[in-house]
Amino acid sequence: MSLYLKQIEQLVALQRVDDEILVIARELQDAPNEVRGLQERFNVLDDQRNRFIEKIDHLKEQEKRLGGEIENDALKVKKSKSKLMLVGNTKEYHAMMREMDNLEKVNRLREEEKLALAEELTRQTAGLEDLEASYNELKADLETKKASLQERIDEANKVIAKLNVKRESACHEVPAPILSRYEFIRERLDNPVIVSVEEGVCNGCHIAIPPQSFIELQKGHQILSCPNCQRLIYWCEHFSECPAPAQVAAPAEETEEA
Ligand SMILES: [Zn+2]
Repeated sequence: MSLYLKQIEQLVALQRVDDEILVIARELQDAPNEVRGLQERFNVLDDQRNRFIEKIDHLKEQEKRLGGEIENDALKVKKSKSKLMLVGNTKEYHAMMREMDNLEKVNRLREEEKLALAEELTRQTAGLEDLEASYNELKADLETKKASLQERIDEANKVIAKLNVKRESACHEVPAPILSRYEFIRERLDNPVIVSVEEGVCNGCHIAIPPQSFIELQKGHQILSCPNCQRLIYWCEHFSECPAPAQVAAPAEETEEA
């Protein structure tokens, strides 16, 4: 195999490791997002639930207060009734009757209010019960995901550490000037750094490379870049694993340049 082809192979091997690292790095990045999304959904549900609980507490308080007031005034009416027999003059009698009437009227209004409160309480309690199932489910899910997140992060970091070792040895295979060209592109462009050219089209940017460049590429003398996207390119038919029907003739001559 020519030096050129060997170098391309080394670069492609390095590219594969970098692809793997990228996949894990994305997983690492996305892992907390999933929990964060779940946490946000949980927070919304938690807020709704708390509003139900607050409302229910408030309604119960009102119910209790009304009940107390009704009882209080009913007692007053009862006392007045027993005193009514002892009243001497008509004026006082009528005044007491009026007061009792008023108290009873207010209490009737309170009873109506209490009924409305009870209805509202039933509605709010039903709302809370509806919410409770999805709330509990999400809460359990969130707790599980939170617990496993750290595990997943640790695991991914272990894989990355292993890949970095693999990367180091892959880098070691590549001559320094070519490696620095690779790293230069890697820092500036989106993955991948090195791509095949299939039927004259760059697999990085999917644009046809100029015929003159394609002829140069097919010669396989030096590592070229795509004139459009600047990625390193190689002719796919130089390699047997290429999808193209490739009965690849080895490049005509060995070359020392690179
Ligand atoms: Zn390109």
